[in-house]
Amino acid sequence: MKAKNIFLFSIDLEDARVGVVNGHQYKDRVVANTKIYLDWLKKTGFNCTFFTVGEVAEKYPDLIRKIIDEGHELACHTWNHVPLNKQNPESFKKDLEKNIEALYKCGASSVTGFRAPVFSLTKETQWAYDVMAACGITYSSSVLPAQNPLYGWQEFGQSKKQVNNSIVEIPMSLNKFGPLTIPFAGGVYFRCLPFFFIRQSFQKRFASSEPVLSYFHPYDLDTEQEHYMHAGINNSRFYNFLMYYNRKNLINRLDALLKMDVKIMTYQDYLKTI
Ligand SMILES: [Zn+2]
Repeated sequence: MKAKNIFLFSIDLEDARVGVVNGHQYKDRVVANTKIYLDWLKKTGFNCTFFTVGEVAEKYPDLIRKIIDEGHELACHTWNHVPLNKQNPESFKKDLEKNIEALYKCGASSVTGFRAPVFSLTKETQWAYDVMAACGITYSSSVLPAQNPLYGWQEFGQSKKQVNNSIVEIPMSLNKFGPLTIPFAGGVYFRCLPFFFIRQSFQKRFASSEPVLSYFHPYDLDTEQEHYMHAGINNSRFYNFLMYYNRKNLINRLDALLKMDVKIMTYQDYLKTI
């Protein structure tokens, strides 16, 4: 039977200080923040997918072990978060193999998923699907099917699709907010937009029997990190303000959603339901 109200809650497990000038002078919060998500997941009884950067797995093997022991899925998010448009098929293959190896080394039992950094899987970088297939990947969650100043592949459409013989792409969930089409369950949007809109967006997806795809980061709930200018936002002070906005309420918002009878599951488990 097809499961209802599926929320594909997922974490992009990365260190936001990487890419920030002298970023390592700031507190290392990856483990502490990830443990807050793990505690919350334990409380809910649900499992989810952690799209994990290889370098992070190598640096924090105990954390990765804990994620595995608590029943969650590990998937790939590249070796060190280089977007696909800055790679080529050869470099990406090496990168992905290294990422997969790092996850198995920590004890993962089956690594079959991939998410591109910053939705860099677009019309121009779709060569990446063949590389994924060659590396044993069977699903990807890497496309933002909207117009976006940085990345975006609007023509892809908003439903999952078989993109070659091996790979299913499950694009990010979108909704319209005024003139904007936005991934309402992505960290910064989920924290900053009015909660009634978030809830309506979930209801709309569920009413059409579609899952809600999301992405959260360790920093999205971090209230103890020093303020610094995040990488990849063109030094925008406004966007950087949003990067810190309402972090303290992230778990409260997630708890409020659970009251809508949502079911969180790993991507691997979701793919078994369709
Ligand atoms: Zn990322």
